Amino acid sequence: MIIQLKNNVSREKAAALASESNAFHISNEYQVLITGSGIKELPNCLEGFAEKTWVFANDMQLASKAYQADKRSVKFGNVTIGGTTNQTVLIGGPCSVESEEQIRSSAELLVNLGLSTLRGGCYKPRTSPYSFQGLGLEGLKLLAKMREEFGLNVITEARDATHIDEIIEYTDIIQVGAKAMYDQGILRACSKTNKPVLIKRGFGTTLQEFVQAAEFVLSGGNENVVLCERGIRTFETGTRFTLDLCGVAWLQEYTNLPIILDPSHAIGYAYGVPSLAKACVAMGIDGLLIETHPNPKVALSDASQQLNYLQFEQLYRDLQKVAESVGYKMV
Ligand code: PEP
Ligand code: MN
Repeated sequence: MIIQLKNNVSREKAAALASESNAFHISNEYQVLITGSGIKELPNCLEGFAEKTWVFANDMQLASKAYQADKRSVKFGNVTIGGTTNQTVLIGGPCSVESEEQIRSSAELLVNLGLSTLRGGCYKPRTSPYSFQGLGLEGLKLLAKMREEFGLNVITEARDATHIDEIIEYTDIIQVGAKAMYDQGILRACSKTNKPVLIKRGFGTTLQEFVQAAEFVLSGGNENVVLCERGIRTFETGTRFTLDLCGVAWLQEYTNLPIILDPSHAIGYAYGVPSLAKACVAMGIDGLLIETHPNPKVALSDASQQLNYLQFEQLYRDLQKVAESVGYKMV
């Protein structure tokens, strides 16, 4: 249950009421309390303080359209994702930051196309300990250098909670990966900052669980959450994962969070990324994440799915037309 307190309730009083009723407290334009699971009646101690209440059938609360119908907007640098922008932000870059030369060439590609946001993993959550694990802090510093030199926003992934402070220092968006999205330490650390957080859907995660991961961050006080669908595991083995576009329609219908799609990790093969990306953009989405590498064949991670620069450029041009046809603009 969400309780918006009356205007005359101070922040301090709201905090006291939250601790008395064992509720989360969010203090922004309003003082808002969020009770624990299953509570459908106003707790006695809150009698007389509530301006408005919302009762939910499940733990999708702050992220629900039922609570806030308008799509949230998340800002980083000079870019806004979601809200009423009707724009699809194209985030491009390699799976992993591998060297200064490699990440600089990706930054140049984006800047030449007029794009704003560079991705690159530094702490890679690999399935095998023998695979390339990422450059770590050295990679973060390279991303920060590109941010500085090219005025790009940069996004990278936190593999565990100890990375959060560094990622906040060197980048603009914290990515919580498909494998990390159940990590309470990461989610709680993300809730204590105002940095935008992009949460990827785990490949065995229901939509309800996905949204609950976002609720961890929202209820802790960070409103800057973006969801990313990147494919789930099904019985199909011909492609790496199965991009759940039905799930995207569900999220658009029931949640107020901006949604990014990642066809690269979903299909796992470069041949299918362009057509899949067009299908994604045709849904009217807030962002698209595409992996691209100067020479995909020698990429240190996700080599099979990364587009070369020519393919990325061509795709960007094609996507502009698709976006336009659904009233969106690629940026
Ligand atoms: C990535 O973005 O490179 C990545 C590891 O993604 P995911 O968490 O979706 O597998
Ligand atoms: Mn990758």
